[in-house]
Amino acid sequence: MVVGEVAIETDVVVIGGGPGGYAAAIRLGQLGLSVVLVEKDSLGGVCLNRGCIPSKALIHSATQFDSLRGLEKLGIELPEGTAAFRMAKWQAWKESVVSQLRTGVAHLCEANGVAVVKGSATFLSSDRIGVETGGDFETYKFRHAIVATGSRPFLPPFVERDGEIILDSTDALNLQEVPETLAIIGGGYIGMELGMAFAKLGSKVTIVEAAQDILPQTAASLSQVVKKQGKRLGITVKTGARVESVAVAEGRAQLTISTSQQGTQEQIAADKVLVTIGRVPNTGEIGLAQAGVQVDNRGYIPVDDACRTNVSHIYAIGDVTPGPALAHRAAKQGIVAAEVIAGLPSSVDSPYVPYVIFTEPQIAGVGLTKEEAEQHGYRVKAASFPYRANGKALATDEGEGFAEVIVDEESHLLLGMHIVGADASNLIGEGVLALELAARVEDLALTIHPHPTLSEVWLEAAEAALGHAIHIVNKAKVTR
Ligand code: FAD
Repeated sequence: MVVGEVAIETDVVVIGGGPGGYAAAIRLGQLGLSVVLVEKDSLGGVCLNRGCIPSKALIHSATQFDSLRGLEKLGIELPEGTAAFRMAKWQAWKESVVSQLRTGVAHLCEANGVAVVKGSATFLSSDRIGVETGGDFETYKFRHAIVATGSRPFLPPFVERDGEIILDSTDALNLQEVPETLAIIGGGYIGMELGMAFAKLGSKVTIVEAAQDILPQTAASLSQVVKKQGKRLGITVKTGARVESVAVAEGRAQLTISTSQQGTQEQIAADKVLVTIGRVPNTGEIGLAQAGVQVDNRGYIPVDDACRTNVSHIYAIGDVTPGPALAHRAAKQGIVAAEVIAGLPSSVDSPYVPYVIFTEPQIAGVGLTKEEAEQHGYRVKAASFPYRANGKALATDEGEGFAEVIVDEESHLLLGMHIVGADASNLIGEGVLALELAARVEDLALTIHPHPTLSEVWLEAAEAALGHAIHIVNKAKVTR
């Protein structure tokens, strides 16, 4: 190792090139600051390389494959036994998508004057980082730093990932073949998304979840619709069940699980085991203590609305900060941190961070659920509209699900919008905008929605809240 003698000076160093870090670096470049973006692996981070994008590519292929089963009733006949899914071919396609996006990020960094350095960064003090780049070690002196080192899968002590039989989400997305049997530890959103995708591709999937229900952080009314589809796909769900141990013998895994209610033990055999029980922030090995940056007892870096840590010229964004681990939150924080550093008035001041779960069907939401709104002391009116009463949904054979609006009876302001059904991921955009613009339920009901489209489910849920939806029998209305 050669130790660099002269520190390279820059306005800002950004550590980590995921959706938070690269968005911050590009915005800093746009604002005319000199910026060094250090990434030890690949630009795009977890999201682009082994998270959002590859998982959605798998879900897309799996959904296309699964849809072949329902083609006959739509009048389409395929010759018997012709459909097959080749995971190795899919890998090549996925890689082409990921590499196209990665190249795009690299190009945008370059075009905005961002100096991208490939290497592993560590704080040496509150104004210097050291970067190991293979055999070399460079020192950078900064006026501001942004920590965007993201997160990694959490593995409990009773399982040892081997990447062959015991997998994390990255390994699962790199499989060359669809496993015949797949046990998934953890029925949160990553476990459910990947579990349903593999079930669509033909795996016999068992999901073991310690909580009393799958998707424990999601309203039960929404997750029930997904549960029903899980049954259709032949997925076995074991809730209130804890995995005690995982043993590997003769190329297979043996899980011992215990159920909290019955207190019984059960064995499950599987070709592959996917562990998706959470993620931990990458804050342990980047020298935060040398810079004086504090972490909480779970390793997350607390920040204020401007994404500042306790050291005022060092910022933290994305999965290293407390809050939902979502790419769009990371990107928003990155842009805010960059703007604050450049002296612009900017802050993460919106509570309306949407979430999407790419299950079958999809779930999405923004704002408060009915229960949360009641806990906040609102007098709440919740109204929903089913997909089965929407013409487009029936015409495209997607009649499962519903859209729900949560309304403050006092002011008629929309407090939350939640949806389970086809294309929920795209439909929630309207909800985010409505809440961000402080829309009243009348605003949604008075907005002309195009026909025939799934977006009409929002229109009619809003009308239902006012007691005059056209395509369902109305039960109640918001009162003053
Ligand atoms: P990351 O994307 O984790 O990037 C951090 C980067 O920092 C990495 O590239 C890492 O190599 C680099 N790094 C770490 N330490 C150092 C160091 N010392 N020096 C230099 N570089 C370093 N989110 C969504 O919003 N929607 C989804 O559909 C979605 N699906 C997901 C599916 C899966 C399977 C997974 C695992 C995650 C998914 N996520 C999704 C979550 C999303 O990927 C993360 O929230 C997002 O990537 C966080 O961005 P980030 O910039 O904070 O960090």
